[in-house]
Amino acid sequence: MVNKPNVQSQQQTSQSLISIAELRAGLNGQVIAPDDPGYDEARSVFYGAHNNRCPGVIVQPANADDVARVVLLARESGAELAVRSGGHSLAGHSTTEGGILLDLSSLKGLEIDVEARTAWAEAGLTAGEYTVATGKHGRATGFGDTPSVGIGGLTLGGGVGFLVRKYGLTIDSLLAAELVTADGQLRRVDAHTHPDLFWAIRGGGGNFGVVTRFQFRLYEVDTIVGGMLILPATPDVITAFIAAADAAPDELSTIANMMVAPPMPFLPEEHQGKLIVMALMAYTGKTSSGDQVFAPFRALGPLVDMVKPMPYPEIYKLMEIEEGPPQEVACSLFLNHIDRGVAETLVEHLRASTASLVVAQLRVLGGAMARVPAEATAFAHRDRRFMAVIGAVYEDPSETPEHEAWLNAYVAALHQGKSGVYVNFLGDEGEMRIREAYPRATWDRLTEIKTRYDPTNLFRLNQNIPPVSR
Ligand SMILES: Cc1cc2nc3c(=O)[nH]c(=O)nc-3n(C[C@H](O)[C@H](O)[C@H](O)COP(=O)(O)OP(=O)(O)OC[C@H]3O[C@@H](n4cnc5c(N)ncnc54)[C@H](O)[C@@H]3O)c2cc1C
Repeated sequence: MVNKPNVQSQQQTSQSLISIAELRAGLNGQVIAPDDPGYDEARSVFYGAHNNRCPGVIVQPANADDVARVVLLARESGAELAVRSGGHSLAGHSTTEGGILLDLSSLKGLEIDVEARTAWAEAGLTAGEYTVATGKHGRATGFGDTPSVGIGGLTLGGGVGFLVRKYGLTIDSLLAAELVTADGQLRRVDAHTHPDLFWAIRGGGGNFGVVTRFQFRLYEVDTIVGGMLILPATPDVITAFIAAADAAPDELSTIANMMVAPPMPFLPEEHQGKLIVMALMAYTGKTSSGDQVFAPFRALGPLVDMVKPMPYPEIYKLMEIEEGPPQEVACSLFLNHIDRGVAETLVEHLRASTASLVVAQLRVLGGAMARVPAEATAFAHRDRRFMAVIGAVYEDPSETPEHEAWLNAYVAALHQGKSGVYVNFLGDEGEMRIREAYPRATWDRLTEIKTRYDPTNLFRLNQNIPPVSR
Protein backbone atom coordinates (compact mmCIF):
# COMPACT_ATOMS: atom_id res chain seq x y z
CA MET A 1 0.00 0.00 0.00
CA VAL A 2 1.52 3.31 -1.08
CA ASN A 3 0.78 6.34 1.06
CA LYS A 4 -0.19 9.71 -0.35
CA PRO A 5 2.74 12.08 -0.07
CA ASN A 6 2.94 14.46 2.81
CA VAL A 7 1.77 17.39 0.73
CA GLN A 8 2.88 20.02 3.19
CA SER A 9 6.43 18.76 3.40
CA GLN A 10 6.53 18.30 -0.35
CA GLN A 11 5.32 21.85 -0.85
CA GLN A 12 7.96 23.08 1.52
CA THR A 13 10.57 21.11 -0.39
CA SER A 14 9.48 22.46 -3.74
CA GLN A 15 8.88 25.97 -2.49
CA SER A 16 12.27 26.18 -0.90
CA LEU A 17 13.91 25.06 -4.14
CA ILE A 18 11.45 25.92 -6.90
CA SER A 19 8.32 27.97 -7.30
CA ILE A 20 5.64 25.79 -8.89
CA ALA A 21 3.80 28.90 -10.08
CA GLU A 22 6.91 30.21 -11.83
CA LEU A 23 7.56 26.80 -13.31
CA ARG A 24 4.00 26.70 -14.71
CA ALA A 25 4.40 30.14 -16.18
CA GLY A 26 7.70 29.32 -17.85
CA LEU A 27 6.79 26.04 -19.53
CA ASN A 28 4.53 24.91 -22.33
CA GLY A 29 4.07 21.42 -20.93
CA GLN A 30 2.27 20.09 -17.85
CA VAL A 31 3.44 20.77 -14.32
CA ILE A 32 1.91 18.41 -11.76
CA ALA A 33 2.24 19.21 -8.06
CA PRO A 34 1.57 16.70 -5.24
CA ASP A 35 -1.96 17.97 -4.55
CA ASP A 36 -2.98 18.02 -8.22
CA PRO A 37 -5.37 15.39 -9.60
CA GLY A 38 -3.44 12.78 -11.55
CA TYR A 39 -0.30 13.16 -9.39
CA ASP A 40 -0.34 9.56 -8.11
CA GLU A 41 -0.80 8.17 -11.59
CA ALA A 42 1.92 10.40 -13.01
CA ARG A 43 4.49 9.43 -10.39
CA SER A 44 4.00 5.65 -10.78
CA VAL A 45 6.78 3.55 -12.27
CA PHE A 46 6.79 -0.03 -13.55
CA TYR A 47 8.26 -1.59 -10.39
CA GLY A 48 5.81 -1.13 -7.51
CA ALA A 49 8.65 -1.35 -4.97
CA HIS A 50 9.83 2.12 -6.11
CA ASN A 51 6.40 3.75 -5.89
CA ASN A 52 6.96 4.88 -2.30
CA ARG A 53 8.87 7.88 -3.69
CA CYS A 54 7.05 11.17 -4.12
CA PRO A 55 8.57 13.79 -6.41
CA GLY A 56 8.24 17.43 -5.32
CA VAL A 57 7.02 18.22 -8.82
CA ILE A 58 6.46 16.32 -12.07
CA VAL A 59 7.07 18.06 -15.39
CA GLN A 60 5.74 16.59 -18.62
CA PRO A 61 7.49 18.75 -21.22
CA ALA A 62 5.89 19.84 -24.48
CA ASN A 63 9.19 20.14 -26.34
CA ALA A 64 12.98 20.29 -26.10
CA ASP A 65 12.86 23.92 -24.88
CA ASP A 66 10.89 22.79 -21.83
CA VAL A 67 13.47 20.07 -21.21
CA ALA A 68 16.27 22.63 -21.35
CA ARG A 69 14.44 24.91 -18.88
CA VAL A 70 13.96 22.05 -16.43
CA VAL A 71 17.61 21.03 -16.69
CA LEU A 72 18.70 24.59 -15.95
CA LEU A 73 16.23 24.89 -13.09
CA ALA A 74 17.51 21.67 -11.51
CA ARG A 75 21.04 22.93 -11.88
CA GLU A 76 20.33 26.33 -10.36
CA SER A 77 18.09 25.10 -7.53
CA GLY A 78 20.11 22.04 -6.58
CA ALA A 79 16.93 19.91 -6.68
CA GLU A 80 17.45 16.23 -7.48
CA LEU A 81 16.53 15.51 -11.11
CA ALA A 82 14.99 12.21 -12.19
CA VAL A 83 14.60 11.62 -15.94
CA ARG A 84 12.01 9.15 -17.13
CA SER A 85 11.19 7.71 -20.52
CA GLY A 86 9.29 4.43 -20.01
CA GLY A 87 9.81 4.15 -16.23
CA HIS A 88 11.19 0.58 -16.32
CA SER A 89 14.43 1.23 -14.46
CA LEU A 90 15.13 -1.86 -12.37
CA ALA A 91 17.00 0.30 -9.85
CA GLY A 92 14.23 2.90 -9.46
CA HIS A 93 16.27 5.62 -11.12
CA SER A 94 13.33 7.28 -12.84
CA THR A 95 11.69 8.67 -9.73
CA THR A 96 12.81 10.88 -6.85
CA GLU A 97 11.85 11.73 -3.28
CA GLY A 98 11.10 15.45 -3.22
CA GLY A 99 13.02 16.36 -6.39
CA ILE A 100 11.97 17.13 -9.97
CA LEU A 101 10.69 14.29 -12.11
CA LEU A 102 11.12 15.08 -15.80
CA ASP A 103 8.62 12.69 -17.35
CA LEU A 104 9.31 12.46 -21.08
CA SER A 105 6.27 10.28 -21.75
CA SER A 106 4.65 13.46 -23.11
CA LEU A 107 7.12 13.44 -26.04
CA LYS A 108 5.69 10.93 -28.51
CA GLY A 109 6.50 12.44 -31.90
CA LEU A 110 7.61 10.03 -34.64
CA GLU A 111 8.72 11.03 -38.15
CA ILE A 112 9.16 8.04 -40.42
CA ASP A 113 11.02 8.41 -43.70
CA VAL A 114 10.11 5.19 -45.48
CA GLU A 115 12.29 5.88 -48.52
CA ALA A 116 15.40 6.87 -46.56
CA ARG A 117 14.69 4.09 -44.03
CA THR A 118 15.14 6.32 -41.03
CA ALA A 119 12.93 7.55 -38.21
CA TRP A 120 13.21 10.44 -35.75
CA ALA A 121 11.55 9.26 -32.54
CA GLU A 122 10.90 11.35 -29.46
CA ALA A 123 12.19 9.82 -26.24
CA GLY A 124 8.80 9.26 -24.61
CA LEU A 125 7.78 6.55 -27.06
CA THR A 126 7.71 2.97 -25.89
CA ALA A 127 9.26 0.15 -27.91
CA GLY A 128 5.75 -1.11 -28.67
CA GLU A 129 4.42 2.26 -29.86
CA TYR A 130 7.40 2.77 -32.17
CA THR A 131 7.26 -0.77 -33.54
CA VAL A 132 3.52 -0.70 -34.27
CA ALA A 133 3.90 2.64 -36.12
CA THR A 134 6.91 1.60 -38.23
CA GLY A 135 5.38 -1.85 -38.75
CA LYS A 136 2.61 -0.20 -40.80
CA HIS A 137 5.35 0.47 -43.38
CA GLY A 138 6.93 -3.01 -43.06
CA ARG A 139 9.93 -1.47 -41.29
CA ALA A 140 11.45 -1.96 -37.85
CA THR A 141 14.28 -1.05 -35.51
CA GLY A 142 15.23 -3.65 -32.90
CA PHE A 143 14.42 -2.87 -29.26
CA GLY A 144 13.85 -5.34 -26.38
CA ASP A 145 11.32 -8.08 -25.66
CA THR A 146 8.68 -5.97 -23.87
CA PRO A 147 6.52 -3.34 -25.59
CA SER A 148 6.02 -1.07 -22.57
CA VAL A 149 9.77 -0.44 -22.09
CA GLY A 150 10.76 3.12 -23.06
CA ILE A 151 13.02 3.64 -26.05
CA GLY A 152 14.91 6.22 -23.91
CA GLY A 153 16.45 4.04 -21.21
CA LEU A 154 16.65 0.98 -23.44
CA THR A 155 18.58 2.69 -26.21
CA LEU A 156 20.97 4.57 -23.92
CA GLY A 157 22.06 1.29 -22.28
CA GLY A 158 22.42 -0.72 -25.52
CA GLY A 159 19.19 -2.55 -26.39
CA VAL A 160 19.11 -6.34 -26.81
CA GLY A 161 16.05 -7.82 -28.44
CA PHE A 162 14.44 -9.86 -31.18
CA LEU A 163 16.67 -8.48 -33.95
CA VAL A 164 19.99 -8.54 -32.08
CA ARG A 165 21.69 -11.24 -34.15
CA LYS A 166 20.52 -9.85 -37.49
CA TYR A 167 20.85 -6.08 -36.92
CA GLY A 168 22.82 -5.78 -33.67
CA LEU A 169 21.96 -3.80 -30.57
CA THR A 170 19.52 -0.88 -30.70
CA ILE A 171 22.52 1.49 -30.53
CA ASP A 172 23.89 -0.11 -33.69
CA SER A 173 20.86 1.36 -35.47
CA LEU A 174 21.25 4.77 -33.86
CA LEU A 175 22.24 7.42 -36.41
CA ALA A 176 21.92 10.59 -34.34
CA ALA A 177 20.30 12.03 -31.24
CA GLU A 178 19.38 15.38 -29.78
CA LEU A 179 20.15 15.87 -26.12
CA VAL A 180 20.12 18.62 -23.55
CA THR A 181 23.40 18.66 -21.68
CA ALA A 182 23.94 19.94 -18.13
CA ASP A 183 24.58 23.49 -19.37
CA GLY A 184 21.05 23.58 -20.83
CA GLN A 185 22.26 23.40 -24.47
CA LEU A 186 20.31 21.28 -26.95
CA ARG A 187 22.93 19.46 -28.99
CA ARG A 188 22.65 17.26 -32.02
CA VAL A 189 25.11 14.38 -31.77
CA ASP A 190 26.13 11.92 -34.48
CA ALA A 191 29.26 10.35 -35.93
CA HIS A 192 30.55 13.79 -37.02
CA THR A 193 29.04 16.26 -34.54
CA HIS A 194 30.13 15.76 -30.92
CA PRO A 195 31.32 12.24 -31.77
CA ASP A 196 32.53 11.79 -28.17
CA LEU A 197 29.01 12.33 -26.81
CA PHE A 198 27.55 10.15 -29.55
CA TRP A 199 29.94 7.35 -28.51
CA ALA A 200 29.11 7.82 -24.82
CA ILE A 201 25.32 7.72 -25.15
CA ARG A 202 25.56 4.39 -26.97
CA GLY A 203 25.81 2.34 -23.76
CA GLY A 204 26.64 4.96 -21.13
CA GLY A 205 22.99 5.51 -20.11
CA GLY A 206 21.53 8.85 -19.05
CA ASN A 207 24.81 10.15 -17.63
CA PHE A 208 25.45 12.76 -20.32
CA GLY A 209 22.19 14.61 -20.79
CA VAL A 210 18.49 14.27 -21.50
CA VAL A 211 17.88 12.83 -24.96
CA THR A 212 14.79 14.42 -26.45
CA ARG A 213 14.83 12.44 -29.69
CA PHE A 214 16.70 9.68 -31.48
CA GLN A 215 17.23 9.04 -35.16
CA PHE A 216 17.19 5.34 -35.96
CA ARG A 217 17.88 3.28 -39.05
CA LEU A 218 14.84 1.27 -40.16
CA TYR A 219 15.14 -2.20 -41.66
CA GLU A 220 12.77 -4.01 -43.92
CA VAL A 221 11.16 -6.36 -41.41
CA ASP A 222 7.63 -7.21 -42.43
CA THR A 223 6.37 -10.75 -41.96
CA ILE A 224 8.53 -12.84 -39.64
CA VAL A 225 8.22 -16.43 -38.52
CA GLY A 226 8.09 -16.27 -34.76
CA GLY A 227 6.23 -16.61 -31.53
CA MET A 228 6.39 -18.90 -28.55
CA LEU A 229 7.59 -22.46 -28.20
CA ILE A 230 7.14 -24.23 -24.86
CA LEU A 231 9.31 -27.25 -24.10
CA PRO A 232 9.96 -29.39 -21.03
CA ALA A 233 12.96 -27.90 -19.19
CA THR A 234 15.14 -30.98 -18.85
CA PRO A 235 18.94 -30.51 -18.96
CA ASP A 236 19.04 -32.33 -22.32
CA VAL A 237 16.39 -30.11 -23.90
CA ILE A 238 18.01 -26.91 -22.57
CA THR A 239 21.44 -27.94 -23.88
CA ALA A 240 20.08 -28.90 -27.30
CA PHE A 241 17.91 -25.77 -27.53
CA ILE A 242 20.82 -23.43 -26.82
CA ALA A 243 23.10 -25.32 -29.23
CA ALA A 244 20.46 -25.03 -31.99
CA ALA A 245 19.91 -21.31 -31.29
CA ASP A 246 23.66 -20.71 -31.35
CA ALA A 247 24.05 -22.56 -34.65
CA ALA A 248 21.01 -20.92 -36.28
CA PRO A 249 21.39 -18.21 -38.93
CA ASP A 250 21.66 -14.61 -37.71
CA GLU A 251 18.06 -14.07 -38.83
CA LEU A 252 16.92 -16.03 -35.75
CA SER A 253 17.10 -14.45 -32.30
CA THR A 254 15.82 -16.33 -29.26
CA ILE A 255 15.01 -15.57 -25.63
CA ALA A 256 14.55 -18.73 -23.56
CA ASN A 257 12.87 -18.45 -20.16
CA MET A 258 13.21 -21.44 -17.88
CA MET A 259 10.51 -21.36 -15.22
CA VAL A 260 7.89 -23.28 -13.29
CA ALA A 261 4.87 -23.08 -15.59
CA PRO A 262 2.16 -20.81 -14.22
CA PRO A 263 -1.44 -21.43 -15.31
CA MET A 264 -1.66 -20.27 -18.94
CA PRO A 265 -4.76 -20.85 -21.08
CA PHE A 266 -2.77 -22.38 -23.93
CA LEU A 267 -0.75 -24.80 -21.75
CA PRO A 268 -2.44 -28.17 -21.02
CA GLU A 269 -3.16 -28.56 -17.29
CA GLU A 270 -0.81 -31.52 -16.81
CA HIS A 271 2.21 -29.29 -17.58
CA GLN A 272 1.29 -26.49 -15.20
CA GLY A 273 3.57 -26.38 -12.15
CA LYS A 274 6.29 -28.26 -14.09
CA LEU A 275 9.59 -26.79 -15.24
CA ILE A 276 9.30 -25.48 -18.77
CA VAL A 277 11.34 -23.57 -21.32
CA MET A 278 9.18 -20.72 -22.60
CA ALA A 279 11.06 -19.57 -25.68
CA LEU A 280 10.31 -16.38 -27.58
CA MET A 281 11.69 -16.60 -31.10
CA ALA A 282 11.85 -14.32 -34.11
CA TYR A 283 13.11 -15.36 -37.55
CA THR A 284 13.40 -12.52 -40.04
CA GLY A 285 14.56 -14.58 -43.03
CA LYS A 286 12.35 -15.84 -45.85
CA THR A 287 9.04 -17.23 -44.58
CA SER A 288 9.57 -20.22 -46.85
CA SER A 289 12.74 -21.21 -44.91
CA GLY A 290 10.96 -21.02 -41.55
CA ASP A 291 10.16 -24.75 -41.36
CA GLN A 292 13.77 -25.65 -41.95
CA VAL A 293 15.11 -23.16 -39.38
CA PHE A 294 12.65 -24.26 -36.70
CA ALA A 295 13.03 -28.01 -37.37
CA PRO A 296 15.82 -28.57 -34.76
CA PHE A 297 13.67 -26.88 -32.10
CA ARG A 298 10.52 -28.76 -33.05
CA ALA A 299 12.53 -32.02 -32.89
CA LEU A 300 12.86 -31.38 -29.13
CA GLY A 301 9.15 -32.15 -28.63
CA PRO A 302 7.40 -28.85 -27.84
CA LEU A 303 4.44 -28.96 -25.45
CA VAL A 304 3.03 -25.87 -27.15
CA ASP A 305 3.98 -24.58 -30.60
CA MET A 306 2.76 -21.05 -31.32
CA VAL A 307 5.47 -20.24 -33.88
CA LYS A 308 3.94 -19.02 -37.13
CA PRO A 309 4.28 -16.33 -39.79
CA MET A 310 3.16 -13.00 -38.33
CA PRO A 311 3.64 -9.26 -38.85
CA TYR A 312 6.71 -8.34 -36.76
CA PRO A 313 4.88 -6.07 -34.24
CA GLU A 314 2.73 -9.06 -33.20
CA ILE A 315 5.67 -10.64 -31.40
CA TYR A 316 5.24 -7.94 -28.76
CA LYS A 317 1.72 -9.18 -27.97
CA LEU A 318 3.36 -12.09 -26.12
CA MET A 319 4.91 -9.75 -23.55
CA GLU A 320 2.22 -7.18 -22.84
CA ILE A 321 2.92 -6.44 -19.18
CA GLU A 322 2.10 -3.01 -17.84
CA GLU A 323 3.07 -3.49 -14.19
CA GLY A 324 6.12 -5.03 -12.57
CA PRO A 325 6.14 -7.54 -9.71
CA PRO A 326 5.64 -6.38 -6.10
CA GLN A 327 9.04 -7.69 -4.93
CA GLU A 328 11.85 -9.12 -6.97
CA VAL A 329 15.47 -10.16 -6.63
CA ALA A 330 17.38 -10.47 -9.89
CA CYS A 331 20.88 -10.67 -11.24
CA SER A 332 22.34 -10.75 -14.73
CA LEU A 333 25.61 -12.15 -16.02
CA PHE A 334 27.24 -13.24 -19.26
CA LEU A 335 28.07 -16.89 -19.92
CA ASN A 336 30.73 -18.25 -22.28
CA HIS A 337 29.31 -21.74 -22.67
CA ILE A 338 26.10 -23.59 -21.87
CA ASP A 339 26.77 -27.32 -21.79
CA ARG A 340 24.88 -30.08 -20.04
CA GLY A 341 26.57 -29.29 -16.71
CA VAL A 342 25.41 -25.67 -16.89
CA ALA A 343 21.90 -26.81 -17.86
CA GLU A 344 21.81 -29.15 -14.83
CA THR A 345 22.83 -26.24 -12.58
CA LEU A 346 20.11 -24.08 -14.12
CA VAL A 347 17.42 -26.67 -13.40
CA GLU A 348 18.65 -27.65 -9.96
CA HIS A 349 18.62 -24.09 -8.60
CA LEU A 350 15.25 -23.26 -10.15
CA ARG A 351 13.78 -26.22 -8.29
CA ALA A 352 15.36 -25.05 -5.01
CA SER A 353 13.52 -21.69 -4.89
CA THR A 354 10.49 -21.11 -2.67
CA ALA A 355 9.45 -17.89 -4.51
CA SER A 356 6.06 -17.64 -6.22
CA LEU A 357 7.75 -17.20 -9.62
CA VAL A 358 11.35 -17.94 -10.62
CA VAL A 359 12.87 -17.46 -14.03
CA ALA A 360 16.26 -18.14 -15.55
CA GLN A 361 16.42 -16.33 -18.88
CA LEU A 362 19.02 -17.10 -21.53
CA ARG A 363 19.67 -14.95 -24.59
CA VAL A 364 21.90 -16.23 -27.35
CA LEU A 365 24.00 -13.32 -28.60
CA GLY A 366 26.54 -13.14 -31.46
CA GLY A 367 25.73 -12.30 -35.07
CA ALA A 368 25.65 -8.60 -36.01
CA MET A 369 26.09 -7.51 -32.39
CA ALA A 370 29.47 -9.29 -32.23
CA ARG A 371 30.70 -7.82 -35.53
CA VAL A 372 30.83 -4.25 -34.19
CA PRO A 373 34.27 -3.47 -32.70
CA ALA A 374 34.22 -3.31 -28.88
CA GLU A 375 35.64 0.23 -28.84
CA ALA A 376 33.03 1.60 -31.30
CA THR A 377 30.42 2.23 -28.61
CA ALA A 378 30.26 2.51 -24.83
CA PHE A 379 28.61 -0.92 -24.77
CA ALA A 380 31.75 -3.03 -25.13
CA HIS A 381 30.71 -6.61 -24.29
CA ARG A 382 30.52 -7.51 -27.95
CA ASP A 383 32.26 -10.88 -27.64
CA ARG A 384 30.00 -12.34 -24.95
CA ARG A 385 28.06 -15.33 -26.27
CA PHE A 386 25.16 -15.71 -23.86
CA MET A 387 23.39 -13.43 -21.44
CA ALA A 388 21.53 -14.79 -18.41
CA VAL A 389 19.10 -13.12 -16.05
CA ILE A 390 18.03 -14.95 -12.91
CA GLY A 391 15.03 -13.59 -11.02
CA ALA A 392 12.61 -14.50 -8.24
CA VAL A 393 9.31 -12.75 -7.65
CA TYR A 394 7.48 -12.81 -4.28
CA GLU A 395 4.93 -10.84 -2.27
CA ASP A 396 6.26 -10.48 1.25
CA PRO A 397 9.26 -8.14 1.70
CA SER A 398 10.30 -10.02 4.86
CA GLU A 399 11.26 -12.94 2.61
CA THR A 400 13.93 -10.88 0.81
CA PRO A 401 16.96 -12.32 2.68
CA GLU A 402 15.88 -15.88 1.83
CA HIS A 403 15.51 -15.10 -1.90
CA GLU A 404 18.74 -13.10 -1.96
CA ALA A 405 20.62 -16.08 -0.50
CA TRP A 406 19.09 -18.32 -3.18
CA LEU A 407 20.06 -15.83 -5.90
CA ASN A 408 23.65 -15.46 -4.67
CA ALA A 409 24.13 -19.23 -4.57
CA TYR A 410 22.64 -19.57 -8.06
CA VAL A 411 24.84 -16.87 -9.57
CA ALA A 412 27.96 -18.26 -7.87
CA ALA A 413 27.21 -21.71 -9.32
CA LEU A 414 26.79 -20.26 -12.83
CA HIS A 415 29.76 -17.89 -12.78
CA GLN A 416 32.31 -18.71 -15.48
CA GLY A 417 35.33 -16.63 -14.50
CA LYS A 418 35.13 -13.41 -16.50
CA SER A 419 32.94 -10.74 -14.96
CA GLY A 420 30.74 -8.33 -16.91
CA VAL A 421 27.12 -7.27 -17.00
CA TYR A 422 24.72 -5.48 -19.33
CA VAL A 423 24.09 -2.09 -17.71
CA ASN A 424 20.35 -2.13 -18.43
CA PHE A 425 19.94 -5.35 -16.48
CA LEU A 426 21.52 -3.90 -13.34
CA GLY A 427 19.38 -3.14 -10.31
CA ASP A 428 20.62 -1.02 -7.42
CA GLU A 429 23.75 -3.16 -7.01
CA GLY A 430 26.47 -0.70 -6.08
CA GLU A 431 29.50 0.86 -7.70
CA MET A 432 31.48 -2.34 -8.29
CA ARG A 433 28.69 -3.78 -10.43
CA ILE A 434 28.44 -0.57 -12.48
CA ARG A 435 32.18 -0.88 -13.11
CA GLU A 436 31.54 -4.44 -14.37
CA ALA A 437 29.33 -3.00 -17.10
CA TYR A 438 32.35 -1.28 -18.65
CA PRO A 439 35.85 -2.55 -19.34
CA ARG A 440 38.63 -0.31 -17.92
CA ALA A 441 39.35 1.62 -21.15
CA THR A 442 35.64 2.26 -21.74
CA TRP A 443 35.16 3.42 -18.15
CA ASP A 444 38.11 5.83 -18.38
CA ARG A 445 36.79 7.36 -21.59
CA LEU A 446 33.26 7.65 -20.17
CA THR A 447 34.63 9.35 -17.05
CA GLU A 448 36.56 11.84 -19.12
CA ILE A 449 33.50 12.72 -21.22
CA LYS A 450 31.30 12.91 -18.11
CA THR A 451 33.75 15.29 -16.44
CA ARG A 452 33.69 17.56 -19.48
CA TYR A 453 29.92 17.67 -20.01
CA ASP A 454 28.51 17.14 -16.51
CA PRO A 455 31.20 18.16 -13.99
CA THR A 456 28.70 18.56 -11.10
CA ASN A 457 27.01 15.20 -11.76
CA LEU A 458 23.61 16.77 -12.35
CA PHE A 459 22.59 13.55 -14.13
CA ARG A 460 23.27 11.15 -11.30
CA LEU A 461 20.03 9.20 -10.93
CA ASN A 462 21.26 6.44 -13.22
CA GLN A 463 23.91 3.71 -13.21
CA ASN A 464 26.25 6.53 -12.36
CA ILE A 465 29.59 7.28 -13.93
CA PRO A 466 30.85 10.02 -11.61
CA PRO A 467 32.91 12.91 -12.97
CA VAL A 468 36.43 13.36 -11.69
CA SER A 469 36.45 16.14 -9.09
CA ARG A 470 38.90 18.86 -10.00
C1 LIG B 1 9.96 -6.01 -18.11
C2 LIG B 1 11.28 -5.55 -18.64
C3 LIG B 1 11.77 -6.11 -19.80
C4 LIG B 1 13.00 -5.69 -20.32
N1 LIG B 1 13.46 -6.26 -21.47
C5 LIG B 1 14.60 -5.80 -22.02
C6 LIG B 1 15.09 -6.33 -23.24
O1 LIG B 1 14.50 -7.25 -23.83
N2 LIG B 1 16.23 -5.82 -23.76
C7 LIG B 1 16.90 -4.81 -23.16
O2 LIG B 1 17.91 -4.37 -23.71
N3 LIG B 1 16.48 -4.30 -21.98
C8 LIG B 1 15.36 -4.78 -21.41
N4 LIG B 1 14.94 -4.28 -20.20
C9 LIG B 1 15.79 -3.32 -19.49
C10 LIG B 1 15.49 -1.92 -19.97
O3 LIG B 1 16.22 -1.68 -21.16
C11 LIG B 1 15.94 -0.90 -18.91
O4 LIG B 1 15.20 -1.11 -17.73
C12 LIG B 1 15.75 0.52 -19.42
O5 LIG B 1 16.53 1.38 -18.64
C13 LIG B 1 14.31 0.93 -19.36
O6 LIG B 1 14.12 2.10 -20.09
P1 LIG B 1 12.88 3.04 -19.72
O7 LIG B 1 13.00 4.24 -20.56
O8 LIG B 1 11.63 2.26 -19.73
O9 LIG B 1 13.20 3.34 -18.20
P2 LIG B 1 13.35 4.65 -17.30
O10 LIG B 1 13.12 4.13 -15.92
O11 LIG B 1 12.44 5.72 -17.77
O12 LIG B 1 14.82 5.07 -17.51
C14 LIG B 1 15.90 4.21 -17.17
C15 LIG B 1 17.17 5.04 -17.01
O13 LIG B 1 17.46 5.73 -18.21
C16 LIG B 1 17.44 7.15 -18.01
N5 LIG B 1 16.72 7.73 -19.15
C17 LIG B 1 15.57 7.31 -19.69
N6 LIG B 1 15.24 8.05 -20.75
C18 LIG B 1 16.21 8.98 -20.87
C19 LIG B 1 16.43 10.04 -21.77
N7 LIG B 1 15.59 10.28 -22.76
N8 LIG B 1 17.53 10.81 -21.61
C20 LIG B 1 18.41 10.56 -20.59
N9 LIG B 1 18.25 9.56 -19.70
C21 LIG B 1 17.15 8.78 -19.84
C22 LIG B 1 16.69 7.34 -16.71
O14 LIG B 1 17.06 8.52 -16.07
C23 LIG B 1 17.07 6.11 -15.92
O15 LIG B 1 18.32 6.30 -15.32
C24 LIG B 1 13.73 -4.69 -19.65
C25 LIG B 1 13.24 -4.14 -18.47
C26 LIG B 1 12.02 -4.55 -17.97
C27 LIG B 1 11.52 -3.97 -16.69
